[in-house]
Amino acid sequence: MDLITLTQKLIQQPSITPAKDDDAGRIAGKTSALNGCFDLLEGELTKLGFTCQRVVFDEPGFPSIPNLYASLGSGPPHLNFLGHVDVVPPGDVAAWTQPPFGGMIENGKIYGRGTSDMKGNIAAYVVALRDFLSAKKFPGTLSLLIVGDEESYAVNGAPKMVQWLKAQNIGFDYCLVGEPSNPTALGQEIKNGRRGTMNAKLTVLGTQGHIAYPERFDNPVTRLGKFIAACSGVDLDAGNEYFAPSRLEVNIIDLPNRVTNVVPNKVVAGFNVRWNSEWTRETLSARLNALCDQHLGQGNYTLEMDFSGGVFLTPASHFLSTIQDSVAAVVGRRPAATTHGGTSDGRFVAAICPQIVECGVTSETIHQVDECVAVADLENLQKIYVEILRRLAA
Ligand SMILES: [Zn+2]
Repeated sequence: MDLITLTQKLIQQPSITPAKDDDAGRIAGKTSALNGCFDLLEGELTKLGFTCQRVVFDEPGFPSIPNLYASLGSGPPHLNFLGHVDVVPPGDVAAWTQPPFGGMIENGKIYGRGTSDMKGNIAAYVVALRDFLSAKKFPGTLSLLIVGDEESYAVNGAPKMVQWLKAQNIGFDYCLVGEPSNPTALGQEIKNGRRGTMNAKLTVLGTQGHIAYPERFDNPVTRLGKFIAACSGVDLDAGNEYFAPSRLEVNIIDLPNRVTNVVPNKVVAGFNVRWNSEWTRETLSARLNALCDQHLGQGNYTLEMDFSGGVFLTPASHFLSTIQDSVAAVVGRRPAATTHGGTSDGRFVAAICPQIVECGVTSETIHQVDECVAVADLENLQKIYVEILRRLAA
């Protein structure tokens, strides 16, 4: 199957990331679309000699999810291609100019949910591997880790697959992530790291009372206001050579009080911290507790922190420069290595791989109506992946 046909066939599988509260019928439909994608990939990879394993994970309260691990060869170096075949929902289908699961081509672009995030990139992996392997053998291990749960919870995908690989003593030397890494054109950027993300639930405690008797109540809302004024939208460090400053943003306030003359006894707030390599989970937790002590007062709050992803960084290395050189060789422009933006499954793979770089198409239309990718970009991406394989095999 050629690059464009494989992309179209993947798009035609509506593998929308299953929602927690969807009914069983819809979840089953989505699971079968994920399996449809894996059938297509396995069909192609098996022909190239890859051993394919479909691994299903369950978790109470979440839809069970199939994932794919395919490998060829043995020993180091181990180059892994990481990706996800789940997609976000199409949104307002009537607003699309092309069917979201059609894979139609118009004016040199393929339209559909997942074209750039990231089924087109995965098709480019497979076709690049075929091109490379038709001429040469890779002196080590090649593998693909393609998961079905990245877009929302990331529970039954990469985190569990990484544990599954770890249990078999499988680690990667290099991980290439085909997430859309460029703002508007190939050659602009690759990502050599990502900030960590942490979601916190902050419960500020007080004493309930009649609003006319300030000596008898202790207003948690006033205290939360002081915390927000001092800490929200504030940088926690100055950043470093690789990363922008870490930043705390309060984005949820839950105060269901509707009674005008009562001061409530608590208010719940949520905040997120995007954090960089200046911190570990431990030092960041300690800093956030200290900020709460300072602005809310010890004992006047509870703080629950959910570190859903750690920070990862691939400093200057042979792998990083090989990717930059490969992009430059194909599109004539050497991409900058950056770390801004959201997180990716690379954060989980960091536990079994020291060098992770994201290199894919553009992110202009991801998660939007009329998501699309230029056919020429996809063809160039395939050439870039072949170039990376050739240079790492040399
Ligand atoms: Zn993605």
